[in-house]
Amino acid sequence: MSTIRHDWTKEEIIAVYNKPMMDLLFEAASVHRKNHDPNVVQVSTLLSIKTGGCPEDCGYCPQAARYHTGVEGNDLMTVQQVKAQALRAKSSGSSRVCMGAAWRNVKDGPEFDQVLEMVRTINKLDMEVCCTLGMITENQAHRLAEAGLYAYNHNLDTSEEYYKEVISTRGYEDRLQTIENVRKTNVTVCSGGIIGMGESVEDRAGMLVALASLSPQPESVPINALVAVEGTPLEEEKPVEIWEMIRMVATTRIVMPNTQVRLSAGRTNMSREGQAMCFFAGANSIFAGDKLLTTPNPDVNEDMKMFEMLGLNPQKPFTKVSQPKTVEAADSQYQALGEKPKWTRPSHKIERNLEASGKKA
Ligand code: SF4
Repeated sequence: MSTIRHDWTKEEIIAVYNKPMMDLLFEAASVHRKNHDPNVVQVSTLLSIKTGGCPEDCGYCPQAARYHTGVEGNDLMTVQQVKAQALRAKSSGSSRVCMGAAWRNVKDGPEFDQVLEMVRTINKLDMEVCCTLGMITENQAHRLAEAGLYAYNHNLDTSEEYYKEVISTRGYEDRLQTIENVRKTNVTVCSGGIIGMGESVEDRAGMLVALASLSPQPESVPINALVAVEGTPLEEEKPVEIWEMIRMVATTRIVMPNTQVRLSAGRTNMSREGQAMCFFAGANSIFAGDKLLTTPNPDVNEDMKMFEMLGLNPQKPFTKVSQPKTVEAADSQYQALGEKPKWTRPSHKIERNLEASGKKA
């Protein structure tokens, strides 16, 4: 096992990122092999359990109500609908279901109770359950943990400095606070970001500094390439070059040796060869299914063909951390507190976000 460092500097990370490609690949692949089975890749299925109508202004997101992207909003799915989708995902090789709701933060009440029931139901199918529901309090994190949640996703998205160019409705500190709240439970942390939003290599390194300095480092770090959706403020951003993606994956692998590095959004624009290079550079997880919340993703069968061609095997559930026990709602130690936390609203102006809000479909 490699030694874990929490004191990476931005300069050191930039130096790793900019190494000659062959040196970078060799180093990343060596770290990867030391800490993981290089022929095993974890497969997650992302399920949008509540789509669209989000009050936030994340510049990359087609689910923000203020942008006119044609995304059809949906109310919270039923537990039965989610169970049916989870069974489908399991039969096509997924070990994890990640449920996403387009919320700013979780509010105690019937909808959250319904999500808790979804967590219980999927955990009982012997699948890892992950949720991404926005900001959560410590009590809400405990309630999710009791229900049997395996992971909570809350991305930092980018560096603290560049964050202010992408989002004005919530602050970086609150993101870190949510991660800290999750860390007070046994739920694992999934937190990463997006490249291709117009940020610099320094910003990419800044995000990795923030993630690497967390102790423990996140068990999972998704690396997304922006999918520029028409109607969002970032609609005109150029697609990320495959070499940038490979550099980002390799650098993440070197900086966080134990972490599961997830090749996330943007895979439809990548060739099989490009994806193979990412696996070689240390990516060991993908999202399966033809949709990633609302943006396109490769077909499951295509992924399985790729796995076969590369001799990769899907990871079995609970390989890294054992299965949490589900506590039934009636036996719960943690009750709804009806808290009204004051998550910040920096509300500075981001011109391109304002412009996009004013455009009609
Ligand atoms: S990324 Fe999440 S919080 Fe931001 S607008 Fe989209 S759904 Fe809302």
